[in-house]
Amino acid sequence: MSKQKVVFFWFRRDLRLEDNVGLFHALESDYPVIPLFIFDTAILESLAKNDARVTFIHQTLEKINADLNAFNSALLVKNGETLAVWKALFEAYDIQSIFFNKDYEPYAIKRDLAIADFALKNNVAVSAFKDQVIFEELEITKADGLPYTIYTPFKNKWLDKFKQIGTFPDYSEEKQFSNFYPSNFEFPTLEAIGFTESTIQVKPHNLTKISNYDETRDFPALDSTSYLSPHLRFGTVSTRKLVTWANKKNAVFLSELIWREFFMQILFNFPKVMTNNFKSAYDGIEWRNNEEEFKKWCKGETGYPMVDAGMRQLNETGYMHNRVRMVVASFLCKHLLIQWQWGEAYFAEKLLDYDLSANVGNWQWAAGTGCDAAPYFRVFNPEIQLKKFDGKGVYIRQWIAEFDLGYGQPMVEHAMARDRAISTYKAGILK
Ligand code: FAD
Repeated sequence: MSKQKVVFFWFRRDLRLEDNVGLFHALESDYPVIPLFIFDTAILESLAKNDARVTFIHQTLEKINADLNAFNSALLVKNGETLAVWKALFEAYDIQSIFFNKDYEPYAIKRDLAIADFALKNNVAVSAFKDQVIFEELEITKADGLPYTIYTPFKNKWLDKFKQIGTFPDYSEEKQFSNFYPSNFEFPTLEAIGFTESTIQVKPHNLTKISNYDETRDFPALDSTSYLSPHLRFGTVSTRKLVTWANKKNAVFLSELIWREFFMQILFNFPKVMTNNFKSAYDGIEWRNNEEEFKKWCKGETGYPMVDAGMRQLNETGYMHNRVRMVVASFLCKHLLIQWQWGEAYFAEKLLDYDLSANVGNWQWAAGTGCDAAPYFRVFNPEIQLKKFDGKGVYIRQWIAEFDLGYGQPMVEHAMARDRAISTYKAGILK
């Protein structure tokens, strides 16, 4: 029997049918489109069996599959090492072309190059599109063509270029959906891919409070941020639609979305930041790296309510408010002198919105080692942060049940830790 001529659209961090650039172009081709998702074992292997992000991906794919069923099609879900999966697909189908949206993380770039190389050797074209950002790679550069390493000029250039765009094309046309490959592929259970359902769930995003974002965003008890981060991470919302909306609603909110793109372009242009200090002058800092102290920080048992509430929120929900993330990160790197990579790895394990570029970028910001970072002598005082941003203790009481029963002693005295941090940094920063 002759194999069927098809094209593939490969979903990765763009888990939606609407306004999806790569999918739109796949559906414009002359062949039926097989929508594909691969649970990549190279990524899954390092995760806990009840990882909440895998549950969220599975739930999202289930919805996509149900939508496709309405068009007499289905999502093809595979589980394995990506190149091996593609090799098997090449055996099964007469593939005319492969479409996907670009992913800018070093692992993804290497993986996609390997797939593209294999496809091209088999005379199959691969088309990769920009979808998860407004400006990618080297689209926003200084006059000399080099990438920005300071946020504000990056943002100004980004805004100038954004104004020139006007409106984005709409990459959603339901009439195209008849171009999906007619199929009834079986949709696997979570157990079939080796996972169990997490009790931690991703919240829906909430844009109702964004008009006052600049006034409310720093107060965790107000719960007034958007909860967009996991949705942006997995592409369940369109960045173009969101940014267009944010541009009309609130400039500070838009600038947070630009921070996201700033850190993405930093990771793309300086991939060493994944594991190394952006500023190599900071390589000489003598971290204390005390494992017992690290465990206390992880559990939210430092004796500083703002730090402990944040860590407990993270452990229980997979989320932590941004202001509190800044406080706990500063505490780890400066009060405890534990290197940022330890905190970054713990966040990577726990955060529903874990994103390599944002996580590394913000951790390096907190540690002072990053490109446009907090100065090394700025050491947040967790008590003052608490007074300023949760003065009535509403947020901390949400996460520390025993707070009113007499809370424990701080594990380290602030003034001593501050002086120790500043002198250790000073001694370690290479001239
Ligand atoms: P909102 O305040 O509603 O912001 C809207 C969106 O803007 C966010 O969803 C996010 O996409 C973007 N954004 C906001 N602040 C930042 C920022 N500082 N850097 C980059 N993008 C930002 N964000 C992640 O998405 N993934 C991470 O792994 C991550 N790790 C972090 C680690 C540390 C130490 C710190 C201090 C911050 C980290 N952030 C990370 C940034 C920020 O804390 C979260 O994006 C934000 O708290 C998510 O909540 P929200 O969607 O309600 O945010």
